[in-house]
Amino acid sequence: MARTPLIAGNWKMNLDHVEAIGSVQKFAFSLPKDYYEKVDVAYMVPFTDIRTIQTLVEGDKLQVTYGAQDISKHESGAFTGEVSGKMLAKLGCSYVVIGHSERREHHAETDAVVHLKVKAALAAGLAPIVCVGESSETRAAGEHLAFVTRQVAAALEGLSAEELAHAVIAYEPVWAIGTGKTATPDQAQAVHALLRAQLHHAASEHAAGIRILYGGSMNAANAAELLAQPDIDGGLIGGAALKAADFLKIVAAAA
Ligand code: PEP
Repeated sequence: MARTPLIAGNWKMNLDHVEAIGSVQKFAFSLPKDYYEKVDVAYMVPFTDIRTIQTLVEGDKLQVTYGAQDISKHESGAFTGEVSGKMLAKLGCSYVVIGHSERREHHAETDAVVHLKVKAALAAGLAPIVCVGESSETRAAGEHLAFVTRQVAAALEGLSAEELAHAVIAYEPVWAIGTGKTATPDQAQAVHALLRAQLHHAASEHAAGIRILYGGSMNAANAAELLAQPDIDGGLIGGAALKAADFLKIVAAAA
């Protein structure tokens, strides 16, 4: 099954809602229109940018999608500071990043919490971008494959094949995020192939269509080589997504 690549920019806690307009407009007006048929583009932005991006995308009929970087595991109620899946869906979000290593590290997000957030996203009609990835210590110990498959199994536990079909996995080795150290295409492909086999086991009829993104210092210079791997279906891009011109080059490499 042919998978349309997905290039998702993860802005993290960067670009306010005014800066967001400039960045998305610059990108959207520079990208040749036929690229949109070959690649899906998504912006994963701070909560405070979402309404502005919705207005821009709808007003200018831009062919980009967008989403949030986190979601509450709860539906509604007394959870100060939280944002529900229903609220994100109402703002036109298509995706939500779940279990990013920065949230696992700084907000004590366990596999169990990640799982509940995946369920919350699917219940609201959002596609979860489920992030997994090992530390440098785990890789050095030769345990990265077991570690990453355990994270995926925990995140997706009990989901139906139809639910799994809506999920996106992002393999993001922690040692490569924001460090300038990228996994080699072979290192990344080895993990992606294993995850594809795992998905096949869990949902054979949908596995070939589930996108597995690579994340970790992907940039304009290394994107083409990584994206050429058979099981790398796009990228989750941090630093290089903050400049429209760099992001554009990565999208062009995917197209
Ligand atoms: C990320 O934040 O998901 C990421 C991959 O960051 P960077 O591209 O900056 O390594």
